[in-house]
Amino acid sequence: MFRSICRGPVQRSFRYSLLSRLDSTNLASITQLHVCTANNRGSEFPDLNTSVDVHKHKLERPKPTPKITKDELKTLEKDTKGSLIPETLKQMENDADFQMNMENLKKLGQKKLTKEERIKRQRALNDLGIPSFRDFVKSASTDSNGDLYSLLRKTPIEIFQLNIGLYCNQACSHCHVESSPKRKEMMNRQTAEKCLEVLSNSPSIHTVDITGGAPELCSEFRFLAKRSKELGLNVIDRCNLTALLEPGQEDTAQFLADNEIIVIASLPCYSAKNVNIQRGAGVFNKSIQSLLLLNSLGYGKPSSPLQLHLVYNPLGAFLAPSQADLEVKYKEELWDNFGIEFNNLFTITNMPVKRFADFLYRRNELKDYMHLLVRNFNGNSMEGLMCRNYININWDGKLFDCDFNQQLDMPMRKVKSQGNASPNEHTGNRGPSIWDINSTSEVEDLRIVTDSHCFGCTAGLGSSCQGTTV
Ligand code: SF4
Ligand code: SF4
Repeated sequence: MFRSICRGPVQRSFRYSLLSRLDSTNLASITQLHVCTANNRGSEFPDLNTSVDVHKHKLERPKPTPKITKDELKTLEKDTKGSLIPETLKQMENDADFQMNMENLKKLGQKKLTKEERIKRQRALNDLGIPSFRDFVKSASTDSNGDLYSLLRKTPIEIFQLNIGLYCNQACSHCHVESSPKRKEMMNRQTAEKCLEVLSNSPSIHTVDITGGAPELCSEFRFLAKRSKELGLNVIDRCNLTALLEPGQEDTAQFLADNEIIVIASLPCYSAKNVNIQRGAGVFNKSIQSLLLLNSLGYGKPSSPLQLHLVYNPLGAFLAPSQADLEVKYKEELWDNFGIEFNNLFTITNMPVKRFADFLYRRNELKDYMHLLVRNFNGNSMEGLMCRNYININWDGKLFDCDFNQQLDMPMRKVKSQGNASPNEHTGNRGPSIWDINSTSEVEDLRIVTDSHCFGCTAGLGSSCQGTTV
């Protein structure tokens, strides 16, 4: 049977792949090639078995020369100079959805708007006859699924996620933190120092994940990144790519490389049109120029310690395709067209919160989207939920289970040392703040605060800041 499908070009490309591996590695790697040509090959090949999972076998293709020419690279570099902010502000002014949001914000205030958003989501679920997330999970805990409900508690914290400010040079249509150049909230030095003190008392943490807004444009970014590295921790910069090209940021990419900071960068598509629709005019070219810059410093190269990962999120109300398959496609497209390399692709689900929730509501699609998420609930995704081993801290030091809860103003449950003091003396909020803890061990085993948006994390293969959770 195999003989009939393993002919001609397939066999030729297989030979290429095998020979190139033999040149560069050792004979042991042959066993991973799962030879399907064992019966019709020349006698120089060893006999090996083919496993049944033939769909998992990938043939390596020779890398073509990237299409982009030297002149085009020069033009790209020239055209992507200057700040994106004037363009972003112009687009915000001309965008009816943004204007409506701003008016509502002025009229109702952030707190009331967030409450309304949560009511709309819950109403959509009520219309579908679906209970709250917590009750849903309880009822999904069966003998075969295991006790899913017990997973909704904090484990030892491994990742310390800092949202250091909402200022951003972009204003993307799906942004769940509603960032833009108009947001000025930023972490100050006093709060940054307290975060570092807690970090130094928290041995279970291995990674500091710095996000925003555009974190590099926030005043405390370099201080936090450098000091966290000195504590021996991994540091992630959640980078929108274009921030690296803003005036005044000329040495930021070099700073990232010098400190071996992991870059996780948003690029929702490899096509200019799709990226510009979701993230704003001119964003695609600047993103490509930044990726080339990061590659030139060693980021994303196979033998380099400098890690560069990309993030895909769907452009509309649908779930992401397979992370592994899409990664192959991204790698091909970005290499073939621009000569860009990166390590891994993370796919994340669009959470029905903030701008994306408004987008769905205005199009009368919120109910359908919630239904899609619930229909695709996957109990296996729950063990890897990021709210279990993350702690999330906002720019003024409030504590949350995750970044989404932060945006919905749903603080973490009270920690013991907080007592009954209410509101919190540092933040004016009822929930705990970084000033209430000495170590993240104090939040272990707390119940995670959930709501209807959590269905976004448990749909399909699950979703987190590190991609799928299954
Ligand atoms: S999605 Fe990221 S890049 Fe876009 S506005 Fe929000 S924080 Fe900025
Ligand atoms: S939104 Fe996701 S990460 Fe956050 S609490 Fe809900 S399930 Fe956990």
